[in-house]
Amino acid sequence: MSKTSETILEINLAHLTHNFNHLKSKLDPEVKVLAVVKASGYGSDAAIIARHLEKIGADYFAVAYTSEGIQLRDAGITTPILVLHPQPVNFQKLIDYQLEPSVYSARVLKEFLVTAKLNGKKHYPIHVKFNTGLNRIGFDESDVDYITKQISATDVIKVVSLLSHLAASEDYNEREFTLNQINSFKQIANKVSAKLGYTPILHQSNTSGIFNYPEAHFDMVRTGIGLYGYGNEAKYDTQLKPVMSLKSVISQIHDMQPGDSLGYNRAFIASEATKTATIPIGHADGIGRQYGNKKGYVIIHNQRAYILGNVCMDMIMVDITTIDCKEGDEVIIFGSESSAANIAEHSGTISYELLTAVSPRVKRTVIDDK
Ligand SMILES: *Cc1c(COP(=O)(O)O)cnc(C)c1O
Repeated sequence: MSKTSETILEINLAHLTHNFNHLKSKLDPEVKVLAVVKASGYGSDAAIIARHLEKIGADYFAVAYTSEGIQLRDAGITTPILVLHPQPVNFQKLIDYQLEPSVYSARVLKEFLVTAKLNGKKHYPIHVKFNTGLNRIGFDESDVDYITKQISATDVIKVVSLLSHLAASEDYNEREFTLNQINSFKQIANKVSAKLGYTPILHQSNTSGIFNYPEAHFDMVRTGIGLYGYGNEAKYDTQLKPVMSLKSVISQIHDMQPGDSLGYNRAFIASEATKTATIPIGHADGIGRQYGNKKGYVIIHNQRAYILGNVCMDMIMVDITTIDCKEGDEVIIFGSESSAANIAEHSGTISYELLTAVSPRVKRTVIDDK
């Protein structure tokens, strides 16, 4: 791990390779890996992550929206890209950039057919999404006849894959519910394949499904948080390594006397002599207000320093009363030394929210070592 002299998000490509290989080791050799790089690669940098994963053998990429797929194409990515939640208004762009839509409703199917036809497409790859219990987006089993009729009546599109999404694969208490989702997906896939006359790629599993539900691996798995190496450590494999480390430095140190107040609205009042360090990272960088008032912490010289008072736009102040440190010393917000899942949980949220909040103002740097 390198030292920093300003706030940075360090992206460790050696850890990304490790996680990719580790996830592969949980799968049968023929199972494909779709890498989810939506939301700027869960807050990292989608282009950097996707270029590396393309090199080491990711079979597919997925993003949430068309604009994210365009960014990957502009970054030189040639691997197929699935757009999980495309909006019909962007279908022309989606086709221009050879992106592949997840088709999740009759409206979306109809609109996509119109645009693909206008472009003179034949066998344009689409993915059909089914709802098996998450109740977010997707066709229901009762739509199978309608969809397969629509699709079989044209040669404008071709179904590359059928997918569904698990709602609670990280939760052992929901085992019965998850097994039901898996069975529904199997039934739907059989029906659709029979009606189409071919079997598309089947995929249903997210990261925790890779570990907890081998029966949901099918032909391909989709993983985001597993690649980035973060999750709830109690529920995920601890052999994953964090790809992202958020680091900063101590800008200034203050000695507070009993009765002195700290920061906006005087939210912290010292009850005893207290030493504080000011750090150049605030809610405009992704450290939300919920981390203030001792809900969140940073790591300085391997010790926890709790955030005192309110989080400012560009700064936080932390308690270093019992930590031997000086201005310019390194501060870890999350990384190998401190899990994003733990700090997020400590302040009532999840790692995904903390990771994806790291704003573009924070410089991304790449390292490629253990
Ligand atoms: C975000 C997303 C994933 C990735 O799941 P993780 O468990 O975060 O790795 C997979 N599939 C769909 C449909 C998603 O939206």
